[in-house]
Amino acid sequence: MTRVLVTGAGGFIGHHLTKGLTAKGHTVRGVDLKRPEYEPTAAAEFRVLDLRRWENCLAATKGVDEVYNLAANMGGIGFIESHKAEIMHDNVLINMHMLEAARVNAVKRYLYTSSACIYPGYKQHSAAVQPLKEEDAYPADPEDGYGWEKLFSERQCRHYLEDYGLETRVVRFHNIYGPLGTYDGGREKSPAAICRKIALVNDGGEIEVWGDGEQTRSYCYIDDCVDGILRLMRSDHREPLNLGSDRLVTINHLVDIVARAAQKQVRRRHDLSKPQGVRGRNSDNARLRAVLQWEPPTTLEQGLERTYRWISSMVKRSGRFQRELATPS
Ligand code: NAD
Repeated sequence: MTRVLVTGAGGFIGHHLTKGLTAKGHTVRGVDLKRPEYEPTAAAEFRVLDLRRWENCLAATKGVDEVYNLAANMGGIGFIESHKAEIMHDNVLINMHMLEAARVNAVKRYLYTSSACIYPGYKQHSAAVQPLKEEDAYPADPEDGYGWEKLFSERQCRHYLEDYGLETRVVRFHNIYGPLGTYDGGREKSPAAICRKIALVNDGGEIEVWGDGEQTRSYCYIDDCVDGILRLMRSDHREPLNLGSDRLVTINHLVDIVARAAQKQVRRRHDLSKPQGVRGRNSDNARLRAVLQWEPPTTLEQGLERTYRWISSMVKRSGRFQRELATPS
């Protein structure tokens, strides 16, 4: 039973994590620029603060035992490829101030949420990619912007551990998806975007897919992500750890799985002008299994079924489905 701070508690993973920590009996202070969009927070206390500002980080970390730092300016591939300066600026400020504020306020344990985007581009040229091991991060060639910032902040966590004894934990997420995540507006990731597009077409209709759809990824369901975070935080593993699934699928296959969940026949129209990111990316889970004696159990079919159901209900509620159907294409 600890007093914990979750930053980014108004966002997708932070909101689910807040629920998970509260259910385990911890007292959660949530902090974000905004409250959760789709349901009320489970946090005992919620503060709307801009964590790019030092004094706000100091106030947020006061009186807590542990910090789960998830706040970040981020989004899907379309967003991160077109907002590099803003992303690096905001996230460097958040992460440097948060670490220092945690040290000043004698926080005992600190989790930093990194990303598979830190892995080098030269290891991800092929769709049939070798799964990425934690040590593959160097020699560094991360995604140019969001990825560089994540790698830099990972290093700073290590130095705070070595120089100041702050117990830092670093997790590298691989495409987390699920209900209550952003599904429109430009910051959504591929599973949410595909669920929304399929929710918006009639049976037999057509959806746009970015690239040729043969690019590959692995996807991890949100409940498994929360479970993995809690396990890592309780472990004594101080090096960065992958948290993802190691089942590699093409985007075209992802579309097929969602279409099956929706019970619709869907045709794909590939737009080669849209950003696709790296050609292939997968998580090597050998260390995850060794360290946590655990691995994400939810299948992609189960997770996408739940995600599709939620996004389709949101689309229906917004009245957008009826409007799209009424518009001649
Ligand atoms: P999200 O965008 O839903 O949540 C991030 C939250 O941070 C948002 O609610 C946002 O308002 C908040 N935030 C941004 N700037 C802030 C500021 N200046 N002050 C306070 N709050 C601020 O994203 P998410 O998917 O929940 O991601 C959580 C963390 O996990 C992030 O650090 C992200 O980089 C990392 N991550 C996520 C994924 C994924 O697949 N979702 C993959 C890799 C890494």
